[in-house]
Amino acid sequence: IVKALRFRLPHRPFLRPAWMIRIGLFLYDHIGKRVTLPSSHMVNLRKSGIFKKDIKKGFEYSDCWADDARLVLMNIMAAKQKGAEVRNYCRVVSAENKEGLWHVTILNEITGERFSRKSKALVNAAGPWVKQFFDDGLQEVSPRNICLVKGSHIVVPKIHDEEYAYILQNSDDRIVFVIPYLDDFSIVGTTDVKFKGDPRRVEISTEEVDYLIEVVNEHFVKQISKDEIVWSYSGVRPLCDDESDSPQAITRDYTLELQHESGKAPLLSIFGGKLTTYRKLAETAMTHLAPFFPSLGGKWTMHDVLPGGDFNCSREQLAKNLLHNYPWLGIKTAKRYINQYGTRAWMLLEDVLSESDMGNVLGEGVYAREIDYLIKHEFVKTVEDVLWRRTKLGLYLIEEHQQAIDKYIQTKLLVNIEPLNG
Ligand SMILES: Cc1cc2nc3c(=O)[nH]c(=O)nc-3n(C[C@H](O)[C@H](O)[C@H](O)COP(=O)(O)OP(=O)(O)OC[C@H]3O[C@@H](n4cnc5c(N)ncnc54)[C@H](O)[C@@H]3O)c2cc1C
Repeated sequence: IVKALRFRLPHRPFLRPAWMIRIGLFLYDHIGKRVTLPSSHMVNLRKSGIFKKDIKKGFEYSDCWADDARLVLMNIMAAKQKGAEVRNYCRVVSAENKEGLWHVTILNEITGERFSRKSKALVNAAGPWVKQFFDDGLQEVSPRNICLVKGSHIVVPKIHDEEYAYILQNSDDRIVFVIPYLDDFSIVGTTDVKFKGDPRRVEISTEEVDYLIEVVNEHFVKQISKDEIVWSYSGVRPLCDDESDSPQAITRDYTLELQHESGKAPLLSIFGGKLTTYRKLAETAMTHLAPFFPSLGGKWTMHDVLPGGDFNCSREQLAKNLLHNYPWLGIKTAKRYINQYGTRAWMLLEDVLSESDMGNVLGEGVYAREIDYLIKHEFVKTVEDVLWRRTKLGLYLIEEHQQAIDKYIQTKLLVNIEPLNG
């Protein structure tokens, strides 16, 4: 779920001088104690022929690409393996601190049922809702303010055939990435727009679409238009409010606030943060909680692998191994399984002797067996979970097949209701 990727920065002299970028990349290469990834260097961009004539050279450096949705999911799966109780679509509506424990009330947003749990500590990691949870769930004043900044992406058929991600500098001092996506597409993003309202209702605006298209069209020979957008998505960054004037200037750093009164259970709240630093943030969170849990062990996450990540060969080799065991899968599905599930693909296919054991074909390359696996092991409750959160099949499947998956999930979940207590 994390891949090394070379990023190329086309140089436009009227924006930033080359010496400044070179110094920046020198520091980037050396401060980060780069071990495995290749270093940065200058590149001739004329050769590729994909850029407009005024873009002649650029810089290349290493970074990584991550499947954010699956990264989050795999951490949740790892927590479950270690004994956590996981409840999807369940919202903590209130929490009361009494008799040395948190008494937490939870609402199942699908069934409408409420249930409760007790805990020795509470972590408010509600992201964009961290402050709202203080207001509504705890009815207390939040120790910090949060600034919500919307970011949107568009997905279009691939703009170029190169294996590089491009980082486009814009005259408003912002950058926009054009990243190769799932063999067939390019992701273009992101934007920075201050956001007010319910983060659940966030969506891309016409201005953001126009902005992203304009930045791409200023650089590439191939021009894109609104009609080519196959998907767009938006998110809200929960940033620590440092009273900066512009959304892109607000710090991307995080702050943890521990609140604890004698005889009461502690509350740890997380303001801000990035995916890149999530493991470090989690370690800091545990350091804050350690005094309340004397038997807690030391740090261990650095060398632990996430579920499905226990392999030492390339993912191409792993796909070949899977295809060798299950030749009827076809290389496309074998690759998709490996990219999504890693070695857990073998768990999905456990006891499968022939294609007929996979159940009905619900869409191209989608067997009922995969949906069963997703319901059983990856907390799937809705068709959107399958199409956009666990996989990106939504980009490929026609409406009729999406409906077939929806119907299948509904039928399966009716006979498989989880008990709330116990
Ligand atoms: C457009 C965009 C681009 C980004 N790009 C990058 C990037 O390139 N690199 C990077 O490192 N980071 C990036 N980020 C930041 C990264 O996505 C966030 O830092 C990260 O998602 C924050 O994680 P979180 O767990 O704190 O919050 P979230 O991911 O928002 O998770 C909070 C969760 O809490 C749940 N929740 C809320 N209230 C309750 C409640 N009462 N009860 C139960 N659950 C609740 C929500 O449903 C949600 O699932 C980007 C963010 C955006 C929006």
